[in-house]
Amino acid sequence: MINADTKWFPCPLCLRPLDVRMTKRKKPYVICSLCGVQMFVRERAGIETLSKLVEQGIKADVLTRIGQLEQRYRLTCPDCTKPFWVNPELTGTNWLNGKVSGYRCPEKNCSGVVPTGQHS
Ligand SMILES: [Zn+2]
Ligand SMILES: [Zn+2]
Repeated sequence: MINADTKWFPCPLCLRPLDVRMTKRKKPYVICSLCGVQMFVRERAGIETLSKLVEQGIKADVLTRIGQLEQRYRLTCPDCTKPFWVNPELTGTNWLNGKVSGYRCPEKNCSGVVPTGQHS
């Protein structure tokens, strides 16, 4: 059974570890105050799945997921070779066709652009 003191489950949006709490009716739930996510697990099958995830693989799972996110959103500048995270504000525009052409390196004095095609 889930022990509310030591168990956590990641927020489905921001992956922050959240305390698994219990309702009065012994149904587990997590709340992420940052995202406003509330996840209640009401059915027995769901509760069993949740407690299995919490007990075993979930930590490894989250690490894998974060690793995938990192692969996907972490780019390396072709000019200065510094890594940076994808940020919509860094999007450069291709003036010829008005389409987004790539992500600009945030380093000062560097005009490196990673083409958007390079990550997907
Ligand atoms: Zn969250
Ligand atoms: Zn750069």
